[in-house]
Amino acid sequence: MTHHTSTSGVIYWFRNDLRLHDNPALQQAIALAQQRHTWLLPVYVHDTALQLTSPWGFVRTSAHRLAWTAMAVQDVSEQIAALGSQLLQVTGEPHEVLAELMTRLNASTLVCESIAAPFEEAHLQALQQRGLDVHTVWQSTLMAPQQLPFEPHDVPNEFSSFRRAVERHTFAPAKPVATVTHMPALPDRVALDAALEVASATGQHTTDHSAYAPLNDPRSAFPWSQPAFHGGERAALAHLAQYCSRGLPHTYKATRNGLYGADYSTKWSPWLATGALSARQAWAAIHAFEAQHGASDSTYWIGFELLWRDHFRWLHLKHGQRMYGPSGLSSAPLPPPSHNPRGFERWRTAQTGHALIDAGMRELNATGYSSNRLRQNLASFLIHDLRCDWRAGAAWFEAQLIDFDVYNNQGNWLYLSGRGTDPRGSRRFNPDKQAHDYDADGTYRELWR
Ligand SMILES: Cc1cc2nc3c(=O)[nH]c(=O)nc-3n(C[C@H](O)[C@H](O)[C@H](O)COP(=O)(O)OP(=O)(O)OC[C@H]3O[C@@H](n4cnc5c(N)ncnc54)[C@H](O)[C@@H]3O)c2cc1C
Repeated sequence: MTHHTSTSGVIYWFRNDLRLHDNPALQQAIALAQQRHTWLLPVYVHDTALQLTSPWGFVRTSAHRLAWTAMAVQDVSEQIAALGSQLLQVTGEPHEVLAELMTRLNASTLVCESIAAPFEEAHLQALQQRGLDVHTVWQSTLMAPQQLPFEPHDVPNEFSSFRRAVERHTFAPAKPVATVTHMPALPDRVALDAALEVASATGQHTTDHSAYAPLNDPRSAFPWSQPAFHGGERAALAHLAQYCSRGLPHTYKATRNGLYGADYSTKWSPWLATGALSARQAWAAIHAFEAQHGASDSTYWIGFELLWRDHFRWLHLKHGQRMYGPSGLSSAPLPPPSHNPRGFERWRTAQTGHALIDAGMRELNATGYSSNRLRQNLASFLIHDLRCDWRAGAAWFEAQLIDFDVYNNQGNWLYLSGRGTDPRGSRRFNPDKQAHDYDADGTYRELWR
């Protein structure tokens, strides 16, 4: 491990970008440390607020999600150690811990990716209010802001208009940046020891992974206790390679509405959520697949879905906090009553009495994953049949999903509530018809009975 005697170094804060490939923010932090001939300390903060109780009465983050994230952190930590550096893991409130670290180490700059969602932005505001120099990098969309055919804040509200504008403009995602193969030196030993004291003062600086053992449910559509689905960045890249080498991009469109099994959809989302996989890297792999095996409706459709992901990100930049209020982006009054706590409890505990919905909730609660088709049904049932506040459902998904992504979760719930940017307004799914169309022989309901 190499150390640097300079006192005024750079801290890199890993957020939802737990990877070394295609990580422009990390590359910028490295370049900054090199230009200034100083050290770089990579940090991950295990946010204690994630273990608080949500306003809806349950813990904000399930054991599944903690376990899944811990694997991504562990992978980055091992890879950074192999490059002669060290990932400092700290537990606490990010802005408190990072401010303390910056002071103790006399760090000049903190670099991290930007996340345009209220809870995440509050951390940065708190750091900036303390007068700290924080440099953020927007990096989680396929296209960089300057590649869009409009200002990011003027993104069309409707997905179809957004997609058409982007496609007319010859849609070309930014190229993934090179994988990090070199890390600058760490702060000198004395300073690092002081930083480690911060870590231990806040409770712990390494995560006890045994506390987060993933549940081994072989029925899961994302069987993440199996070696192929287990791990962070390296597992993600191996998964991406095998997804392409088995020719699955050519069958995606026909199978994407599946409910069970590992191959009906890409299964990228849990890795995209922690940032163990970059969307641009995933898209580049599909592009390479097309160059070798030809483009098809199916390969196009994978890009189409990734554009949904981008759209929800740009909508957050445009509308901010409004996406989080009870009325969402709609000016229509809320129909009374605005919530049904009993109905919510029945839904949450898989006791609605509807076989498809209850099976879906059992899978979600037992594994932290659910197919897109079921998510739509679960959300629709909660909002339109049980007449619950969509934000309670979004909070339950946030707690359970190992692929929880603030933009995608909020965007999809808002869309289904009819309070987002969907021109068709409310999206109610008829659960009986859905069971008939997508689980005609009852295999899925039987699997999760
Ligand atoms: C109520 C509700 C909540 C959701 N919450 C989340 C969430 O927290 N995190 C999350 O990543 N996705 C969420 N989704 C979107 C979608 O269900 C998942 O992205 C998808 O099921 C993940 O599996 P996959 O990677 O195999 O997807 P695939 O079908 O293989 O799609 C490939 C990728 O495209 C993107 N994508 C696909 N569908 C959507 C969509 N509807 N919206 C945005 N991006 C999409 C995802 O990044 C996905 O990994 C939600 C959907 C609904 C209806």
